[in-house]
Amino acid sequence: MEILEKAQEYERKGRNITHLEIGEPTERTNSLIKKAAKQSINSNNSRYSNSLGIQELRDKIATKYKNNHGVSISPDQIVITNGSSAALILSLITLIKPGDSVILVEPYYPCYPQLIKILGGKVRIFKTSVQDKYQVNIKKFSKFINKKDKVLILNSPSNPTGVSQNKDVLKFLSSLKINIISDEIYEGLNYDSDPETFLNYNKNSIVVNGFSKFYSMTGWRLGFLIAPKNLIRGIQKLQQNMYICAPTVSQYAGVGALSINQEEIERLLGSYKKRRDYALSSLRDMGIDVGYSPDSSFYIFADMSNYTDNSLDLSLDILKKVGLGVAPGIDFGPSFNKFIRFSYSSSLKNIQVGFGKMREYIKEYT
Ligand code: PMP
Repeated sequence: MEILEKAQEYERKGRNITHLEIGEPTERTNSLIKKAAKQSINSNNSRYSNSLGIQELRDKIATKYKNNHGVSISPDQIVITNGSSAALILSLITLIKPGDSVILVEPYYPCYPQLIKILGGKVRIFKTSVQDKYQVNIKKFSKFINKKDKVLILNSPSNPTGVSQNKDVLKFLSSLKINIISDEIYEGLNYDSDPETFLNYNKNSIVVNGFSKFYSMTGWRLGFLIAPKNLIRGIQKLQQNMYICAPTVSQYAGVGALSINQEEIERLLGSYKKRRDYALSSLRDMGIDVGYSPDSSFYIFADMSNYTDNSLDLSLDILKKVGLGVAPGIDFGPSFNKFIRFSYSSSLKNIQVGFGKMREYIKEYT
């Protein structure tokens, strides 16, 4: 937030700022999404929906999971939500009581600890490292987990590392006696790894997903969760009380999104891969070796310990000197204050300008 606000302040003064700090795709909204939304507006399908979501969308999501992952889920296990953020909140309220211990895999999405604290839960941080390529180290985790731990939030593919956990890790985690919330918002944005869902490993987990990232639909506020049937009624009641339902027009737009053909999806994935490759090779040219392969999502997490002990100061300095926004590592956990996150979710052209500025910063100011 601090970086974005400072960047906006510079922009108001007329400075050109390149944004690599934001994890938001800048792809144009696909015409099928727009068409379905317009149709819903024109046919006055814009009132409250059932609090679980419209049946058509829930059916299509179940079909997508069958086709893409070979997993059978009933549409009755799906709740459509206000972005995956609401899915996450509903899942946490369902599983956490005050005082419960929740494990986060560090580096983690910054909202997790805040949400856990709001609910009176206790955060326990399990650290991963670049030496382990940001995979959960099974031996260390076995020693770390204890009987008091109630929930584990897994985020694979990950924000901020861009790493997907491998099959051995998923299998291991699925064997533990702990509730797992699997945040799969970047599912499908895989370039060198297979798209996975934790449902293939453990049917009792809650999977959180949404349309913001894969379908570039951030402002539509459309997400969903998949949960065991016995939890659905409770989650539905929460949804009814908190949000009533996800935006109805967006739900129809989501049906449009799920009709996008494979060719278009391949084009998108090819384009992200190209941007990822460009970003990695330009970091390498600057002498920054990230030490692992970010195989998914659209983030690269770089160790900047040669340049700083304070990632916020470094990020503010990069912004001030060369007009480039990056995300400070401290946001993603206390162990990562010497890191910064680059996002390659914007256009290749924007990324080229951004990494050009980074090159200038390293050359001129370090
Ligand atoms: N989880 C993760 C890991 C994210 O990075 C984000 C968005 N940056 C979200 C959840 C929330 O996304 P949304 O509410 O737009 O679906």
